[in-house]
Amino acid sequence: MNIAYHCPACHRAVRQPVAAGQAALECDHCHGQILISPTAITEQRLNGCLVCPSTDLYARKDFPQRLGVALVVLGFIGSSIAWANYQVLWSFAILFGTALLDLVLYLVMGESLTCYRCGAQYRGFEEIELHGGFNLETHERYRQLAARLKDRPDSSS
Ligand SMILES: [Zn+2]
Ligand SMILES: [Zn+2]
Repeated sequence: MNIAYHCPACHRAVRQPVAAGQAALECDHCHGQILISPTAITEQRLNGCLVCPSTDLYARKDFPQRLGVALVVLGFIGSSIAWANYQVLWSFAILFGTALLDLVLYLVMGESLTCYRCGAQYRGFEEIELHGGFNLETHERYRQLAARLKDRPDSSS
């Protein structure tokens, strides 16, 4: 299991392994610590974000979006070239081949969890699907919360 987050103290990106029973996260850069609640991870399952107090997390396929799009474009171009050269069979083979590759890639990729509030990402945990997929309403709620906190003039934190 591992976590990727932005350190609240120095705002730099940190990626490190995390295990059940671990007491704290320590930033690689500034060595700032974030205490982990003992109930945050039970067995291999994540119950809430370790970086912020939020328990709202969403599951997402770790699919390399750019690679997926590149494959589709490549398939289209290759297919068009074959088509222009009267290679009808090849034209279809290339198109379906790249589409299939896209699908396989999607299926073999693992799932990650992302915190709505702070954007921390978690990988290698189990029962990730219990958290549910991305929900726009929840996302909007956190976006507005963040905006309100930023606008508040007497913000002490
Ligand atoms: Zn730090
Ligand atoms: Zn969080």
